Amino acid sequence: MTKILTFCMGDLRTNTYFVFDETGACAVIDPGMDGRGIWEKLCSKGLRPTHVLLTHGHFDHSLGAKELVSLSGAKLCCHKEDALLLSDPWKNGAAFFYRGDIEFYPRTEAEVLLEDGDVIDLGSFSFTVMHTPGHTPGSVCFRLENNLLCGDTVFAYGFGRYDLWGGDREKLSVSLERVASLESGIKLCPGHGNTASLDRIREQILLDAASLK
Ligand SMILES: [Zn+2]
Ligand SMILES: [Zn+2]
Repeated sequence: MTKILTFCMGDLRTNTYFVFDETGACAVIDPGMDGRGIWEKLCSKGLRPTHVLLTHGHFDHSLGAKELVSLSGAKLCCHKEDALLLSDPWKNGAAFFYRGDIEFYPRTEAEVLLEDGDVIDLGSFSFTVMHTPGHTPGSVCFRLENNLLCGDTVFAYGFGRYDLWGGDREKLSVSLERVASLESGIKLCPGHGNTASLDRIREQILLDAASLK
């Protein structure tokens, strides 16, 4: 039985997810802040992640990745089109949010570069990568059973901004349509805020997608 735990952390209240099962297989999605703090939470639950997955490269989703990877030995996985954000605080938004105070920013590199359709297998469960560009060039959603870990592409109320580096309004529109086309029974687990039933907000997502055309 796969479990998902959510922690809301960091200056932008990013959702960090722990996904694990009873065999100890574990992945961390979007370690947005304080890699050591995340590692201590994992240790207190007896979890050791083999994968750190990023829905995209923005600093509020990746800031703890370097430290968490060095403490856990996990593989850092990110879509190939967002790989460059991990080493560039100007592209990943940190420089703007912290008004240029970026000395602290832990530049890092992904070990695994993801593409649409890739499957990340952790034994009893797996993630399928769905490339949903628009918020950033390499934004992805991770499909885990009936859950969609959707980063900043879509939220319970609204969708991700497209005015940051690499954002693309038309691509976001297509990505929202792609999310809305998934079958019934999907739970959206976004990068900020509450979860949502896709069935409940499908019409709104389609209206949002149309408004971006
Ligand atoms: Zn973002
Ligand atoms: Zn975010």
